[in-house]
Amino acid sequence: MKIEKVDVLVIGAGPSGTVAASIVNKAGLKVKIVEKLKFPRFVIGESLLPRCMEALTEAGFIDAVKEKGFQEKFGAKFVKNGKVCDYLFADQFTPGWNWTWQVPRAEFDKTLADTVEKMGVPVSYETTVTGIEFNGSDSITTIEDNNGNKSQIEARFIIDGSGYGRVIPRLFNLDKPSNLPPRRTLFTHVVDTKRSTDDEPNRITIIVHQKGIWIWVIPFSNGLTSVGFVGDPEFFKQYDGSNEEQLRKLIASEPYLRERMNDVEMVFEPKVLESWSTTSEKFYGDGFVLTGNVTEFLDPVFSSGVTLAVVSSQMAANLVIRKLNGENVDWNKEYLEEMMQGINTFRSYVMAWYEGTLDTIFFADNQVEKIKSMICSVLAGYVWDNNNPYVKNHKTALHKLARTVELRDSLI
Ligand SMILES: Cc1cc2nc3c(=O)[nH]c(=O)nc-3n(C[C@H](O)[C@H](O)[C@H](O)COP(=O)(O)OP(=O)(O)OC[C@H]3O[C@@H](n4cnc5c(N)ncnc54)[C@H](O)[C@@H]3O)c2cc1C
Repeated sequence: MKIEKVDVLVIGAGPSGTVAASIVNKAGLKVKIVEKLKFPRFVIGESLLPRCMEALTEAGFIDAVKEKGFQEKFGAKFVKNGKVCDYLFADQFTPGWNWTWQVPRAEFDKTLADTVEKMGVPVSYETTVTGIEFNGSDSITTIEDNNGNKSQIEARFIIDGSGYGRVIPRLFNLDKPSNLPPRRTLFTHVVDTKRSTDDEPNRITIIVHQKGIWIWVIPFSNGLTSVGFVGDPEFFKQYDGSNEEQLRKLIASEPYLRERMNDVEMVFEPKVLESWSTTSEKFYGDGFVLTGNVTEFLDPVFSSGVTLAVVSSQMAANLVIRKLNGENVDWNKEYLEEMMQGINTFRSYVMAWYEGTLDTIFFADNQVEKIKSMICSVLAGYVWDNNNPYVKNHKTALHKLARTVELRDSLI
């Protein structure tokens, strides 16, 4: 069988794989991406966070993305029973980016992949990783193209950015259930002719439909809007018919959307996804590191997925460069602990969201601006800033704040 030799093999050409490949390539290492599908391909995850711009900058992707004219995103708006809580990234506590984009992922991911290819990284599309054998930190990976042709890649290191494909965890039985309960979503893109032209397009809107059930509304610059219902799989059972019929009934049942989206044209038959939260026993090993969704994906509510994907790749790529240059890397401290800080901060917010703790905070009257700016930084993805008490004390701060709000309101 034909064997190709590289320094670093990257699995997957999603944001995680392309950011990692670009950074490693810039350091002069020989890198190759193997991608199962043909691009552009559909994937969900369209609302980015400002923190991801730092990783896109280091990867050299910002200008290429800017040229595409994607919808700029300046904040996140939460809505419940007519009450609105608006977070503007410009008001955030942590110094950093105060805007980002809302992107149809097929086009965004293709832009990143084309850019990394132009930088000199070969991308083999429609080629699937089917097996890996490690010999110490070196490895031989077997790949197969769509015509059934097999070949092998010898690599000094593998970065697994295979997203929902979870290549290394599946091949080596490392998959582990997440501690979050299963959730379901039904979503599509709609032709949004009644979108308002003032504050609406430049932020994600998250609507509390009822306890534990919420809706995302993500406008794109091409006139389409992504809309999806998310929550306990049991909730969806009361709606019958095709996916489109179910989604139309759901939209009709939500006062915030009913008028704007009655009779909207749906661009594709609404899709269903369920039970997406998974993690892995290990995030790294001799000769490999997992990045992006392969590490742990929590929940869509705070749009953390792409940001954790590209930040993990940024960290991992820089560690791989050091490792291959003969330096010592403390993977536990420099990668696992760093990643878990980000993931666990978002985990506390996701749990507080589904419990209703964040409803109490978001929809309180007379909010304290300084506290709001600290929470805003988490919503912007700055979950590594330990100067922010709402990051440092993420496990307790939200509950204490919600109790204070409840106590205050009970005295008024
Ligand atoms: C309902 C829902 C809504 C979401 N909304 C958001 C959001 O608003 N914002 C946000 O940031 N995130 C969101 N996410 C999360 C987002 O989808 C992911 O976090 C993000 O796509 C992860 O990027 P990645 O590069 O790790 O993986 P991916 O984008 O999935 O890329 C992985 C690539 O690897 C390839 N691959 C898989 N297996 C193999 C193989 N065997 N060989 C070769 N290649 C392979 C795949 O084809 C794919 O192209 C959402 C997720 C869900 C479930």
